[in-house]
Amino acid sequence: MKTYKLVITGAGPAGISLAAEARMSGLKAEEIIMLDKAEAHSWVIRSLYPDKKLVTANYKGMPAICHGVMCLQDSTKHDTINYLDKAIQKTGVVVNYQEEVQKIESIGTKKEPEFIITTNKDKYKAKIVVIAIGIFGKPNKPDYPIPRKLKDKIHFDITSFRTTEENILVVGGGDSASEFAQFLIEMGNNVTLSYRRNKFVKMNSFNLNSLNELVKCNRINLLLQSNIEKIDIQKENKPLVFFKEKKYGIKKFDRIVYALGGSTPENFLKSTGIDFVGDVPDVKEGGESTIPGLFVGGDLLAGKRGGSISHAFNASRNTMEQICKNYLHCHVSEHFKYEKGVKL
Ligand SMILES: Cc1cc2nc3c(=O)[nH]c(=O)nc-3n(C[C@H](O)[C@H](O)[C@H](O)COP(=O)(O)OP(=O)(O)OC[C@H]3O[C@@H](n4cnc5c(N)ncnc54)[C@H](O)[C@@H]3O)c2cc1C
Repeated sequence: MKTYKLVITGAGPAGISLAAEARMSGLKAEEIIMLDKAEAHSWVIRSLYPDKKLVTANYKGMPAICHGVMCLQDSTKHDTINYLDKAIQKTGVVVNYQEEVQKIESIGTKKEPEFIITTNKDKYKAKIVVIAIGIFGKPNKPDYPIPRKLKDKIHFDITSFRTTEENILVVGGGDSASEFAQFLIEMGNNVTLSYRRNKFVKMNSFNLNSLNELVKCNRINLLLQSNIEKIDIQKENKPLVFFKEKKYGIKKFDRIVYALGGSTPENFLKSTGIDFVGDVPDVKEGGESTIPGLFVGGDLLAGKRGGSISHAFNASRNTMEQICKNYLHCHVSEHFKYEKGVKL
């Protein structure tokens, strides 16, 4: 069985920055491996971000401060992926793609942790494991049933289909909902946005202003305080949407795109033996779970408010500090700390 000091599960912003922090702390590239179930790193950015999206450093109003070696500045989707790409290259850490971690077993002691990691392809042994699998593998779904026949007309992302001149319903009220709507309009579709509240409280000012502009010039049909009761099938297997509110009634669409966020992959985390507080993992300093040597990172640490790339980068720095202090006796290098204008 291949043995590593550090196995990182998930190669998104959290996993990649953790690998970078580990390298800067003196671990050798061959002592680390990253495993990702997707075909390429940063699945969320590749699959859920609209192509022309501005990737903001202060996403959800979180301060764009960098504590660690990686630092996001406002950039395009393409540049963000490139930055993460370069970071992987610079670390020299191998990433095994299309390799899904299915089981993590603790076989060590409190002082000398050790784990067996089972994937769909192999087994690995590691001293320390960091789980950075994000929350979007499990997008939140509506609480009413969706007819199976509508499978091809209902989406939880924006990149798995390309369409123009369609009548599309976007459901949600956060940044993703606004970005999905803006993107679909740009592609030449008619967009209706349904949100259950009477005003947007979670959107950043950029997305809110863009949305308000589109509403003002009638390019988007905004249904505030709207709740869907059920979805039926109309001709050509298209969705027929029944709203609870009489004023919205029944509406026909070509497609529906849900932007309802994601949720913690509780079953997977609980299968490792990690304890939970409510619906979030019970962690201490640096994201260490109740199992010594088993850490969680990125969005899994962000709680209800949701995470961001900068949050994931900074959390990795804290995680590595704890790993060094408690287990690997390494030193997080101050020398490589991000300073203005210096990027990994
Ligand atoms: C539409 C949208 C727009 C956003 N815009 C911004 C923005 O402008 N700025 C910003 O800072 N943030 C933004 N975010 C949030 C940001 O994308 C997340 O906070 C960030 O991606 C979290 O990083 P992560 O590494 O924790 O998780 P993820 O990015 O979700 O990465 C997890 C990785 O783990 C892999 N994985 C999952 N399960 C397994 C498994 N069992 N085995 C192996 N691998 C696995 C996945 O394939 C994935 O590559 C946005 C999010 C969305 C959905």
